[in-house]
Amino acid sequence: MALIVQKFGGTSVANAERIQNVARIITDTYRAGNSVVAVLSAQGDTTDDLIAKAMEINPRASKREMDMLLSTGEQISCALCAMAIEAMGFPVVSLTGWQAGMKTNKAYGSARIKSIDTERIVSELGRNAIVLVTGFQGLNKYEDITTLGRGGSDTSAVALAAALKADLCQIYTDVEGVYTADPRRVSGARKLDEITYDEMLELASLGAQVLHNRSVEMAKKYQVKLEVLSSFAKKPGTKVKEVVKKMEKTYVVGVAKDKDIGRLALVELEDRPGIAYKVFSLLSKENINVDIILQSIGRGDTKDISFTVKRGDLEAARQILEEHQESIGFDHIDVSSNLAKVSIVGAGMIDNPGVASQMFEAIYGARINIQMISTSEIKVSVLLDEEDADKAVAAIHKSFFGE
Ligand code: ADP
Ligand code: ASP
Ligand code: MG
Repeated sequence: MALIVQKFGGTSVANAERIQNVARIITDTYRAGNSVVAVLSAQGDTTDDLIAKAMEINPRASKREMDMLLSTGEQISCALCAMAIEAMGFPVVSLTGWQAGMKTNKAYGSARIKSIDTERIVSELGRNAIVLVTGFQGLNKYEDITTLGRGGSDTSAVALAAALKADLCQIYTDVEGVYTADPRRVSGARKLDEITYDEMLELASLGAQVLHNRSVEMAKKYQVKLEVLSSFAKKPGTKVKEVVKKMEKTYVVGVAKDKDIGRLALVELEDRPGIAYKVFSLLSKENINVDIILQSIGRGDTKDISFTVKRGDLEAARQILEEHQESIGFDHIDVSSNLAKVSIVGAGMIDNPGVASQMFEAIYGARINIQMISTSEIKVSVLLDEEDADKAVAAIHKSFFGE
């Protein structure tokens, strides 16, 4: 008998019929002799709808009250699914994140799981119940409800799988697995049978929303056996693991796009030691993460530094730097928000110098201008105009994976 953690995303539980479908998948797994803990997301667009409701009342609502509100979506799904399983005659209990012992840090809206007290779940499993747990939420040290950030139910599931030492964590979603690009946007995207934790972590961090990036980080850390599969098609999905067998010599596993990018350029900065330190320490004190950084070669006694941040951090970053304009010493700041980052990912690319140039050739072939480039052992990212991003993804995908 195995212990299996299953997670079902918003589309998979969007209406009564789909909840019945999920109840069937869970009870089939249970009937096959397994213990099952299932983590559910809020139905369909519930989380977006709740955010819209809050905005109508108070666009500056505190993060604490937002978490109080947003956590309710997952409670609805879990209670409804438990009712469906009850009706099918199986023992079941639904638990909120806090009943399930999910302890997080205090960061409302983007909390991190610190520990899970599994006693309640273990005792429910001990009496042979199917356990349903609300995704995306926990309790902080003030005993307030926190949420884990958009897409965070994946992380709830992997964290539970790690804490319970589950044999397998299955992420059921609305596509059949992890593809070489978003299958809803790129025709010819291919499903991968398997992918390494490292490659999946890069893809997820670079915009492939099929898995929450922190769920992959955690799966790697605790070596959780992870599988992404469809709740609608009975087919094997994609296995995410430490090492994969490479059948073909593919250096690139996928292409990802991230629109959540803004760029700031400090123009005519004084060219003297300590300037980069000053700029980036001011931003880090405000918890603003910086991604791609580009510094020009000095001309005369000035230089420029451009860098990217999340779009939501753009204004805050501009304000802090403008407040310190005199002590940093720059002429003005340029801000752009209509940009996107397109990336290729693959563990094999470090040893293949041709990979980056093949990507640039594809972008050139589509007559698209690259504004910034950043590389690491496992990825190449380019920054370009948002309106060109889909065309660039299509051209790059075609170059590496064919039609
Ligand atoms: P869920 O609600 O089940 O958590 P999400 O919407 O968060 O589902 O994630 C699934 C979506 O991720 C798919 O519908 C697909 O459009 C998108 N996606 C983006 N990149 C990829 C990729 N490389 N492989 C598979 N899906 C991807
Ligand atoms: N319901 C949350 C969201 O929409 C969490 C999740 O779906 O993973 O972001
Ligand atoms: Mg998701």
